[in-house]
Amino acid sequence: MKVLLIQPPIEDYYTTKIRSYPLGLLFIASKVSDICDVEIVDLRHSKKPLKSISPFDELNDIYNPHYSPFSLFHTYQRYGKSNEEIRDIISLKNPDIIGISSLFTTYFEEAVEIAKIAKEIDKSMITVMGGNHPTLFPEDVLRYDCVDFVIRGEGELPFKLLVENIKKGKSLFEVPGLCYKDNGTIEIKKIYTDADCNLNLKREMIQKDSYRYGKGFIAPALTSKGCPHRCYFCGKPAVKFRRFETEDIKKDLKKLIDLGFDTVDFEDDYLDLTSPQIKDMLKWISDKNLRLTAMNGVVPKIDSETIKLVRDAGFQRINLSLVDISEDIQKETNRDQFSGFNEILDDFIKTGIPIEVHFILGLPYQTENDILNTMIYLAEKKVLLGPSVYYLSPGSPAFKNFLSENGNFNLKYARSSALLPSNNYFTPVKLATYMKLSRFINYVKSVIDSTLSDLSLTDLLKEIENKNPLDYEILKSLIIEKRVISFQKQSRKFQVDPFDRDAVSGLFNKLKFIKGHKSNNVCHFC
Ligand code: SF4
Repeated sequence: MKVLLIQPPIEDYYTTKIRSYPLGLLFIASKVSDICDVEIVDLRHSKKPLKSISPFDELNDIYNPHYSPFSLFHTYQRYGKSNEEIRDIISLKNPDIIGISSLFTTYFEEAVEIAKIAKEIDKSMITVMGGNHPTLFPEDVLRYDCVDFVIRGEGELPFKLLVENIKKGKSLFEVPGLCYKDNGTIEIKKIYTDADCNLNLKREMIQKDSYRYGKGFIAPALTSKGCPHRCYFCGKPAVKFRRFETEDIKKDLKKLIDLGFDTVDFEDDYLDLTSPQIKDMLKWISDKNLRLTAMNGVVPKIDSETIKLVRDAGFQRINLSLVDISEDIQKETNRDQFSGFNEILDDFIKTGIPIEVHFILGLPYQTENDILNTMIYLAEKKVLLGPSVYYLSPGSPAFKNFLSENGNFNLKYARSSALLPSNNYFTPVKLATYMKLSRFINYVKSVIDSTLSDLSLTDLLKEIENKNPLDYEILKSLIIEKRVISFQKQSRKFQVDPFDRDAVSGLFNKLKFIKGHKSNNVCHFC
């Protein structure tokens, strides 16, 4: 029996190449590789992104194609193969079963398109969808004629039982988490979570060539599954937190090293660097010459042993999640378990590893003042700002509240780039302005890092003028005239971008200094 596991393309505003590796599908493929002929196809890769039509007309002015060091996105694109290419791939592989990953609700259309193509090629091809979206909305997904099965929750065991039972012609009723249509009714099972937490990935099933990172190759790894918390905005299914055996994690990392990957990104939802298991793993990694990242963020917890281990293990940078500096907002979003962030951040800074702190713009309970306070706090710390615009994530407590108050929600807007305001304090332009101001702060930090001493505002502008005259005009306009401009390459003229005056003046009224990202030098703003 031939099984094809597919990671669909996505369409969105993006600036960087998609690098993520289909780790979820690899868990499934590794589980079934001894009972069928299984292959993973990552359709998110193509030579060049393809232009696509944005469903968000209202954002055309905000995401314009002009040059600015703070610009957000330029075009809405398709990242991955075209439908024609997908048709050719599926026809050529001609599988009996096609498993489609649908992680994010907002990209469901791209995922269900694969099932439609499969059924157009051969009606008897069995289509199975899994991932966050089908887990949350199994009935909606099964209403599509082209989808035969949905797996809710962790898919390894259900998918294996599905393949085995189909091969043997046995009933599928007993398969946990498996939802299907039966004589006009839809059979929905509860979300399945594996009691065991085994890590035995067949890493050799994924070739490294598509996962370039700098001059080398990057792969994700996990040390655990699930998360013990339930943040108000988080749409991850509430599955129990479980850790893999440390020896299994080491074996997995060893496989990656042997395959030529030199960077590992830990993708855990909850990576606690102070846990004994992680410390043991970090000690083991320290002589392996691996570069480490944890782009999803690490739990803001640190102790003196961790400071040394993190330094020695090869972390390239540390990503921490703050959400908002206000304790009230932390409480409202169920984040108060991460209190004491300030002291913890200072300890992380002591590791000497570059730090990026993630925060959210436009949460339901946030005000403009909350956002500005968080930005100022981070501007004055030796860290990079990692802003992201809030979006209503299906499955989150916030989503449930929204539906109970408003009835329905256009799921296409369940993405950060849609800039959908969650309360009356914000507009799309204001949210975009905060994003640009955060980038401005990071830009100034990079200039500070390239100089040997503290800077005055005049020094800063001189430095930029010497390096890049276009950037100089754009920064001067922002700092002196409090206007956000960009440069039109065709007309070779500057133009004023849509921006929120209150957001800009709010920042400059409060901003006293910005500290470098990698140096302790500062640039004074008053
Ligand atoms: S945001 Fe992170 S810490 Fe909070 S529930 Fe989601 S995965 Fe857990």
